[in-house]
Amino acid sequence: MSINRRQFLRGVAATGASAAAVAAAPEEAAAALQREPRGRAPEALGLLYDSTLCVGCKACVAACKSANGKPPEISADQSDWNAGTWDSAKGLSAKTYNIIMVYQNGTMAAKDAETDGFAFIKRQCLHCVDPSCISCCPVSAMQKDPVTGIVSNDPNRCIGCRYCVYACPFQVPKFEFEGAFGRISKCELCRHRLAKGELPGCVDSCPTGATLFGRVADLRTEAHRRITLKPGDTYAYPRGDISGKYGEHREPHEKVITAAYREEVYGETVLGGTQALYLSAVSFDKLGLPYGPDIPTSGYASQTEGIQHFLYTGMIAPAAALTGLILLARRNVDKHHSEADEDAEDSQGGSHGNA
Ligand code: SF4
Ligand code: SF4
Ligand code: SF4
Repeated sequence: MSINRRQFLRGVAATGASAAAVAAAPEEAAAALQREPRGRAPEALGLLYDSTLCVGCKACVAACKSANGKPPEISADQSDWNAGTWDSAKGLSAKTYNIIMVYQNGTMAAKDAETDGFAFIKRQCLHCVDPSCISCCPVSAMQKDPVTGIVSNDPNRCIGCRYCVYACPFQVPKFEFEGAFGRISKCELCRHRLAKGELPGCVDSCPTGATLFGRVADLRTEAHRRITLKPGDTYAYPRGDISGKYGEHREPHEKVITAAYREEVYGETVLGGTQALYLSAVSFDKLGLPYGPDIPTSGYASQTEGIQHFLYTGMIAPAAALTGLILLARRNVDKHHSEADEDAEDSQGGSHGNA
């Protein structure tokens, strides 16, 4: 059975009081009701972004727009002299599925240094192993491919409720406000290009191999190899597809390691794991990623669906459960962001903004 936007929103309004009760549920109760977390598909595809290799050229931002038919975005505060000539998006949006942000501290003299340094971070959908956006979508517009694990969204099914916008812990899905019927937009790992044997646009355009494509299993092996490297070592970084199956062959990028890697691969376990993995020399929370003791190693979806199942049994309307559980999922993320902001203020003026 399908429902339209009006029917759906009416259902949510009618059950709002129950939703508030769900949101107020103690964390211990939520943990007790948690369902089994989902695992990563063996052939799952993804990205490995190595912040130490990124030079901030933003070729990937332009290539992403080209690959997805998206126009440049001109910031309102861009000065008149170059208005209309440059893409100057300040964050992810319905027109920008991929963006390079920068962490800055003090004099910004050294790349990949937390103090008096700077570092880049690429943001796009992380194709979560157990995605909140899918869990909260009432009409299954968000789908996860069982083989590749790519999280896609179907605009023909989307009713514009924007639950996914609020539920995503990485703040990725964006609502397209232009036009009579809005729609949700986000990175779909360029599945239309993969179907033709081509690389994702951002990978294809990256000159240094900072964004590498491949099976997540292979990318994890590569990432663990890198974190054993020490400053002064030389390493031949693969570029393009780590397996060589997609896109043209390209020579590796040889580089002397200058900054020590953090001995952790972001995305292996955080929030149940992601198919976009990250390496960095700077703490991941400085790069604006949810990170730290408050961020669980299982996805919020495993908590929320467990509670939702319990409420179904108690004959409480599912729309109320969804509403309340999005609030539950947001609680930790909002807390994380306010703490990260405080940290940035405490660390000699450190900040995180667009590159
Ligand atoms: S990052 Fe957000 S939009 Fe992407 S799969 Fe995860 S929950 Fe969904
Ligand atoms: S995979 Fe495609 S849509 Fe996603 S960030 Fe890269 S270029 Fe953009
Ligand atoms: S193309 Fe590669 S090096 Fe350039 S900004 Fe994007 S990830 Fe960084």
